[in-house]
Amino acid sequence: MRRRADAIIIGAGVIGAAVAFELAKRGYKTLNVDKLPAAGYGPTSNSCSIVRAHYSSWDGVAMAYEGFAYWKDWPNYLDFEDERGFAKYMDCGTVLFKSKTGHHEKVLEHYRELEVEFEDWDSETLAERVPYYDVHAFWPPRRPDDDAFWQKAEEELPGAIYTPGSGYVNDPQLASHNLERAAEVKGGEFLFNREIVAIRRNGRVQGVTLENGEEIDAPVVVNVAGPHSFVINRMAGVEKGMKIGTRALRHEVHIVPAPDDVDYEHEGFHTSDGDQGIYFRPESGNNILVGSEDPECDPQVWVEEPDKFDRNVTKEQWEAQVYRVARRIPGVRIPNQPRGIVDLYDVSDDWIPIYDRSDLDGFYMAVGTSGNQFKNAPVVGHLMAELIDACEKGQDHDTDPVQVKVPYGGFTLDAGFYSRNREINPNSSFSVNG
Ligand SMILES: Cc1cc2nc3c(=O)[nH]c(=O)nc-3n(C[C@H](O)[C@H](O)[C@H](O)COP(=O)(O)OP(=O)(O)OC[C@H]3O[C@@H](n4cnc5c(N)ncnc54)[C@H](O)[C@@H]3O)c2cc1C
Repeated sequence: MRRRADAIIIGAGVIGAAVAFELAKRGYKTLNVDKLPAAGYGPTSNSCSIVRAHYSSWDGVAMAYEGFAYWKDWPNYLDFEDERGFAKYMDCGTVLFKSKTGHHEKVLEHYRELEVEFEDWDSETLAERVPYYDVHAFWPPRRPDDDAFWQKAEEELPGAIYTPGSGYVNDPQLASHNLERAAEVKGGEFLFNREIVAIRRNGRVQGVTLENGEEIDAPVVVNVAGPHSFVINRMAGVEKGMKIGTRALRHEVHIVPAPDDVDYEHEGFHTSDGDQGIYFRPESGNNILVGSEDPECDPQVWVEEPDKFDRNVTKEQWEAQVYRVARRIPGVRIPNQPRGIVDLYDVSDDWIPIYDRSDLDGFYMAVGTSGNQFKNAPVVGHLMAELIDACEKGQDHDTDPVQVKVPYGGFTLDAGFYSRNREINPNSSFSVNG
């Protein structure tokens, strides 16, 4: 029998699964199709899953702050029991250094407006609260092959912004599984190990075709294909009609042991060190997980074919990130063998996602997540479901953007902020900080 659904969702990463749950709650018969064997097996599984609110725009801060509430309320939000248990929210707090990037200044304005809980630390408080940090300013970010990297720093950082409610999710793949199961309880279905090779259309979207030739019909198709988003948009013939595009960017994350005398796993903070162009957070086994905040000196490796990229950690990037973290936490011992993971970000032209409809009626997208939208997955699920439902009921989102009331914070998000047809947002950090 020919398969059909009310909405086909391409991808079962954390956002694809969240869109399914929220649509299924609204009565849509959803079908997620993923070419991998289980939910969250793609880039989601390699996510650092950091949950923090320091974005450059009001909209970015608002969405992420709303996300805190979902993660804190996770089992209750999902409203069922998962046989594998629930992903845990580790609210270790975030230390955002005041650096010459000026990022903290933009952030503070929005924190005040949105009443995000924070503490403004001066340099003495920073040194007191995190005594194992070297609080010197090393600006600008450099790589260890630059002689200036090794020069003695004279100045100190002016302080930091501490956000107590933020942290990270301990198991991003399990979080996706939780969402899959929650969607299934509401009638959603998931089809794994199946690749979509065509989007069928005839004036509006008709459905998809799989690599085995099977055709599945649906009046709604949602592109949540992560770094393959541009491939899917091309298949649907909508890419050329968009002002903002998406591309796949290779990203390395490394793991180093914390110093023996620091219980970083249980007492450490997630830290955004714009002064050196890195972020790091606690990882189980008293380790430190460290990634790049994309400073100019770090090379960007754009990937044309998202199924073909080098998954091996490179010595150069390992040294850059690990030496930087060892400069900030002087007790860190550098292991002989590099350890880490490599995966792809789906980056938009201004590092702000596209959550939108398309020029093809019935075809929607939640793409361009730019290495920073794991935290927002449940909020995006809610926003996309409201947007799809409103458009399917006749609202012209392009001229009359859908306004989405959020359940926890009670404020309203303007879904038009994430339009595919916006101008490049000049306030963006143009980095993983969004
Ligand atoms: C290394 C790394 C670190 C990150 N750290 C953070 C962080 O600390 N905090 C944060 O908030 N965000 C972070 N992110 C970003 C975050 O993980 C992503 O924004 C999020 O996981 C995206 O989820 P998704 O559901 O959109 O897509 P993905 O997880 O990319 O899933 C897309 C799915 O689509 C499937 N697919 C693609 N094409 C097809 C096709 N043709 N047919 C069938 N299936 C298809 C793929 O198999 C895949 O499973 C990080 C990302 C990476 C890579």
